[in-house]
Amino acid sequence: MRILFLGAPGVGKGTQAERVGEVMSIPHISTGEMFRHHVGSKTALGLRVEEILARGDLVPDVLTVEMILERLGDPDTTDGFILDGFPRNVAQVHALDEAIGDRALDAVVVLEASNEVLQERILARGRTDDTPESVSNRLDVYERETAPLIDVYRERRLVVKVDGVGEIEEITAKILTALAGLS
Ligand code: AMP
Repeated sequence: MRILFLGAPGVGKGTQAERVGEVMSIPHISTGEMFRHHVGSKTALGLRVEEILARGDLVPDVLTVEMILERLGDPDTTDGFILDGFPRNVAQVHALDEAIGDRALDAVVVLEASNEVLQERILARGRTDDTPESVSNRLDVYERETAPLIDVYRERRLVVKVDGVGEIEEITAKILTALAGLS
């Protein structure tokens, strides 16, 4: 299956996407992780995006799209993949549509949680881009740029909504049940 995970920062998207990818034996592809890896390894791309990540802004589409399309060309993606953190705006949706064409998405899992839960979880996580200013900016960017994608995919009848509050195992089970109901 080709699955996209959508949800606000702190909703547990990365954790769940990784777990579901493991169960389904398909790669979990996280653009955030890929960027953090570049920053950590001080590659040319990493040096270019370091401050953008620290601020919680979106990396320019050209850089993001080039990086992800290269990854989606890898042979381990032929049986499916879990996308986590891409697409994050409408332009990226179009770039993905063009690139995957007949390998279109099978489902879009939308994880939901209240703002209080999101803030609590982000503070508990303590990633380097989890400063108060960056967190607040990322929540704004999510509302403005990414949340509208839920409607785009709802019109395509791909959205599966799952409550992101509860035990990690319980939420994974709910996602797997919802996905099994699709095929
Ligand atoms: P994440 O791990 O998904 O929270 O992403 C961490 C950071 O990486 C974001 O705050 C952005 O700066 C950057 N990033 C990740 N995915 C994208 C994307 N699809 N487009 C632009 N920037 C992204």
